[in-house]
Amino acid sequence: MAVPKRKTSPSRKGMRRSHQALVVQPHAECGNCGELKRPHHVCGHCGHYDGREVVAAGKDIKGTVRV
Ligand SMILES: [Zn+2]
Repeated sequence: MAVPKRKTSPSRKGMRRSHQALVVQPHAECGNCGELKRPHHVCGHCGHYDGREVVAAGKDIKGTVRV
C-alpha cells in the first residue's frame, strides 16, 4: 500500500480545503405565503410561481388529472 512520505502540513491542508467554503445561497420571500424560497423557482411551500399556483403543494400529485 502506498504511504505518504511526509505529514500533510497545516498550510497544505488549508490549500486543499480552499475550495470547500460554503456559499450563502440566494433567497427571496415568496409573494404568496412569505416563506423563503430560491429566486426564479417555484415556492416549495405553497407551490406558487409568478402569482399563480403551478404545483399542487401539500396534495397528492400522483393520480391527479391536470387540465
Ligand atoms: Zn409560497
